[in-house]
Amino acid sequence: MLDQIRTVLSHTTHPGNVGATARALKVMGLSQLALVNPKDYPSAEATRRASRATDILANATIHDNLDSAIADCQLVVGTSARTRTLPSKLISPRELAEEIKTTPDRVPVAILFGTENSGLTNEELHKCHYHVCIPTNPEYSSLNLGSAVQLIAYEMRLALSEEAVLPEQRVVDSEQHITHEQLSGLLQHFDKVMQLTGYKIPKHAKYLDLRLERLLCKAEVTTSEYNILRGFLSSVEKYSERLSSGVLEKIEQSQK
Ligand code: SAH
Repeated sequence: MLDQIRTVLSHTTHPGNVGATARALKVMGLSQLALVNPKDYPSAEATRRASRATDILANATIHDNLDSAIADCQLVVGTSARTRTLPSKLISPRELAEEIKTTPDRVPVAILFGTENSGLTNEELHKCHYHVCIPTNPEYSSLNLGSAVQLIAYEMRLALSEEAVLPEQRVVDSEQHITHEQLSGLLQHFDKVMQLTGYKIPKHAKYLDLRLERLLCKAEVTTSEYNILRGFLSSVEKYSERLSSGVLEKIEQSQK
């Protein structure tokens, strides 16, 4: 579905913004770019700002009027921070994604972006089915062109990409979560050590076991974390043994 989306830049004045747009699109998996009367283009600055997305620039189509850039599109939307006197229906980027989902496969959809200084003209906006506004600070609402493209492309990816949103995390064996039996063993071990050190006085410890169990459940303890906790508890037991045998020796010596 992302291949259906055509980003149309109208009358860009800074070629760097064309490069930034190519990069923004490629990062989000969009590919179609159409340029209407771009100033100073092609340009080394555009290529530089595109970074490794120069294929998007190479495949971009260049038009001398907007009608030719959107001729085959069934859905055309215009982006603008400003509301107009004769408004088209105003929607958010998320609502736009829902709208795109209802268009037939492979039919191009155009998203128009205006020139840097003055944005889309009223004439350009009237060619659009919807006016898409990125919610921003009402007192300072206009984004840089490349940033506006990036945000729209991101929203399209979130809503329309068939791939998982995040790459799957590789779970290594040691990162498996512990079993219920291991959790019970761990709780018993805590109980033993807490009594040994005098931390737990059974008649005052009404909620201690429950809270500890809840904590360890929330923590979703992994095998390696379990091994750390068990190892630590065993070391406390051993330390306590050494301590008490030392103390006993001293008591014995003092009694001689
Ligand atoms: N000074 C212009 C803004 C141009 S910014 C004006 O007042 O309209 C360049 C382009 O970025 C705009 O034409 C629009 O396509 C896009 N853009 C910037 N901020 C936006 C926003 N908040 N919502 C939607 N599109 C925005």
